Amino acid sequence: MRILLIEPRLEHGIITYRDRLKPISIIYGNPSLTLPMVAAVTPKKHYVKILNENYEKLKITDEWDLVGISVLTITAKRAYEIADKFRELGVKVVLGGYHVSALPDEAKQHADAVVIGEAENLWPQLLEDLEKGKLKEKYFSNEKPDLSKIPNPRRDLYYNFLSGAVQATRGCPVGCDFCPTSKLLGRIVRKRPIKDVIEDIKSIPNKVIIFRDASLTLDIEYSKALFKAMRGLGKKWIANGNINVLGRDEEFLRLSKEAGCIQWFVGFESISKETLKKIHKMTNINVVEKYGEYVQKIQKHGIAVVGGMIFGFDEDTPDVFETTYNALEEWQVDGIEFNILTPYPGTAIYERFEREGRILTKDWSKYSQAHVVFRPKKMTPEELLEGYMWITKKFYSMDKVLKRILHHFGYAKEYEKSPALLSLPTLNFAMRRYYKIERKRIERELRNGTAVPSQ
Ligand code: SF4
Repeated sequence: MRILLIEPRLEHGIITYRDRLKPISIIYGNPSLTLPMVAAVTPKKHYVKILNENYEKLKITDEWDLVGISVLTITAKRAYEIADKFRELGVKVVLGGYHVSALPDEAKQHADAVVIGEAENLWPQLLEDLEKGKLKEKYFSNEKPDLSKIPNPRRDLYYNFLSGAVQATRGCPVGCDFCPTSKLLGRIVRKRPIKDVIEDIKSIPNKVIIFRDASLTLDIEYSKALFKAMRGLGKKWIANGNINVLGRDEEFLRLSKEAGCIQWFVGFESISKETLKKIHKMTNINVVEKYGEYVQKIQKHGIAVVGGMIFGFDEDTPDVFETTYNALEEWQVDGIEFNILTPYPGTAIYERFEREGRILTKDWSKYSQAHVVFRPKKMTPEELLEGYMWITKKFYSMDKVLKRILHHFGYAKEYEKSPALLSLPTLNFAMRRYYKIERKRIERELRNGTAVPSQ
């Protein structure tokens, strides 16, 4: 069969389909593993092509026997549009991914079959059923893939110019209310054998790699063993980690540095202990007062800290933006991803907001983390948007960006003598550009009265 696997285009984000063919899409392209993994478990007798709409134009033709689309909530609208067009031409369409796993009945209306959960165990069976003309409507398994049995992703079908991606573990026991990871991938951390991860890393042509793990600090001993095995591979890498481990375990930091770590992404989410308790961010509750101290501890190892902050939680009042900004200035963090709380289907927060009648729209294209799609508790949607614009503008003003880059070069120079050091300045400029684009849109929508969906 001829199989086309599609990643639908993004309307919002650091890189969107509007950046196609621009240098920024090469510099800050985001390597994905989802479709290369699906391609890897596709029997060799089939022809497979991966198309990412953010980098390549999609042609809707009937030259394919099967189209598989990976769907996130933000791309659901576009994914359904593409699926409908292919189906009009008689091409079979299968949908999978986070959004489909959360809302399979919705997705089914646009597909011949849906894959619920991780695809590795289900995809080969689905292909066999299709060949026999016995395609089922839903593919689901209670058993999660055994990571010691999964092949390496087909990176030959999806090359990213500057960085490559790898995954060592799946799952997260923490279960924060706003995050779909624990529900979709499970609360048990499944681990690939370290030798498989090392072989996989060796096959990546890029110098810089991004770990696509929910967090590399969930199984400390496994990660330390992985870092030891990574010594000497000559890679520079970025990963997600939790602050309670990164701030306290010096050996962990040292080993990660020796393995080539250049940046930890840390989900701070909020500077309020009350909020962290309410959203069940257990890893952060007891260390919130030490965020700043821990950031600097990580930086002392020559590793940058980029964090995530979310606004719009129930305890947040309009002054949350200023207090958060002041804290960030004090910590001297290297970059922050500012997000408006987005209740993704499949999360505890979505279910609660649904029950409370606070979801303002189910236009999934607005689930971007830069729109307000629910009614906040202690501020108006407009105040949330104004605060988001204020903090993104102030934090990513040119003088602050330059100050952060100089600070980074100051503490990282003795450790880094490679172009990978440029990943941090690049990130700051990319974020600055992204928030500027979003602010312009929000200002326009506030003027014409479309910024807040009417229920
Ligand atoms: S936000 Fe991080 S720690 Fe919380 S559930 Fe998601 S992956 Fe786990």
